[in-house]
Amino acid sequence: MPHSTRLPRTGLVRHLAALALAGGLILAAGPAPAQDDPAGGAAVAIAAETATRDGTTRLTLTLSKPIEARAFVMERPDRAVIDLPEVNFQLDQETGKLSGRKRDGVIASFRYGLFAPGRSRIVVDLAGPAVVEPVETTKTREGAVLVSIPFRKVDRDTFRKAAVAGDPSPAASAKAAPARESVDTRPLIVIDAGHGGTDPGAIAATGVFEKDIVFGFAQSFAERLEQSGRYRLVMTRDRDVFVPLAERVRIAREAKADLFVSIHADSISAAPQVKGATIYTGSEKATDSESARLAERENRADAAAGTESGEGPADVADILQELTLRETRGFSAGFAGRLMGQLSPVMEMSPKPHREAGFKVLRSPDVPSVLIELGYLSSKSDLEKLQSEEWRDRVTGSMAKAVDLFFSGRATLSRPAPVAPRRSAAIAPVSP
Ligand SMILES: [Zn+2]
Repeated sequence: MPHSTRLPRTGLVRHLAALALAGGLILAAGPAPAQDDPAGGAAVAIAAETATRDGTTRLTLTLSKPIEARAFVMERPDRAVIDLPEVNFQLDQETGKLSGRKRDGVIASFRYGLFAPGRSRIVVDLAGPAVVEPVETTKTREGAVLVSIPFRKVDRDTFRKAAVAGDPSPAASAKAAPARESVDTRPLIVIDAGHGGTDPGAIAATGVFEKDIVFGFAQSFAERLEQSGRYRLVMTRDRDVFVPLAERVRIAREAKADLFVSIHADSISAAPQVKGATIYTGSEKATDSESARLAERENRADAAAGTESGEGPADVADILQELTLRETRGFSAGFAGRLMGQLSPVMEMSPKPHREAGFKVLRSPDVPSVLIELGYLSSKSDLEKLQSEEWRDRVTGSMAKAVDLFFSGRATLSRPAPVAPRRSAAIAPVSP
């Protein structure tokens, strides 16, 4: 292959920190890695094929232009994650579903999609332990670009080492060893600004959208936490974009988040006198019918934006997940308690400030998660506060204190063990 060039190994020599940070907008690391794009627009993928030869299985993408790929492997379940700049996947619906006879070498199946604004991701379910070799890029005579990702079968031990290093290549991981002490072990917090894009959330009588209010609040909360230097921050959206509910959960889980905080400010049109903040934690059983209705309305966000939510990762089916979820919910309730303690003195709380309901975004089995309703857009006094910068500074300050208390109290506790995300469907593209 005369045109064969190897992509720069940038990113192959990475460790867990990079892995965890791959989840979305990276506040802690300054500007997100720029995807310079002189050719303009995302690369278009028109085919993704697998082939096995001499013990190596290749996943080959046919693209409109070259892209940089970064891969790492993860255990439980065995999988490889390939991070890409934004790619416009124009693939056949069945691509990646390699069940039964179609299964190819170490690749059991794969799914793909927009993972966060500006980034796409391919997740490859491995049939057994394997590592990713350096990615190769070639050009066809017709001008298309073939990006070939080779998977080499290895023994369990080698795979485990690669998974721990967050590095697909054993050789590269050996070279990376001296840098390992710089692995960032600070807790990772995912801030989820509700709604976005085609989904405005609640709309105030004044025409203000919930999606804009909660985004501004989420951003200033994330900045405050980031400034403390104690946490790594990831936001599920960094602009006015629609992000499906399951995707928000997936971002937190794939980043191995230690805490997930979803920010909302809904409205109750039937009761404009209802005001104050409420903190929700997840539960199959809602505290009251009002909470159940709210969760149900929120859970319809995907359908309302024209996206099929599909099977969520939090489909609790086995006993291990069930146990992990129960333990995680204990942590979630603990954080909700901290939040109430810090918020009650500085802001108005609703009559029952901690409630439970079946919000889809609160279903990560292994990430402590809370959803805070800052107030109601249907209440005139709440709306005024929600738009006041002074109020926002005070509230985000108290929330940051609650986060500090939560993590200092948990120093001696172990984090719930991650459990396998249960997935089968392709990652739904984020754009509506
Ligand atoms: Zn909402």
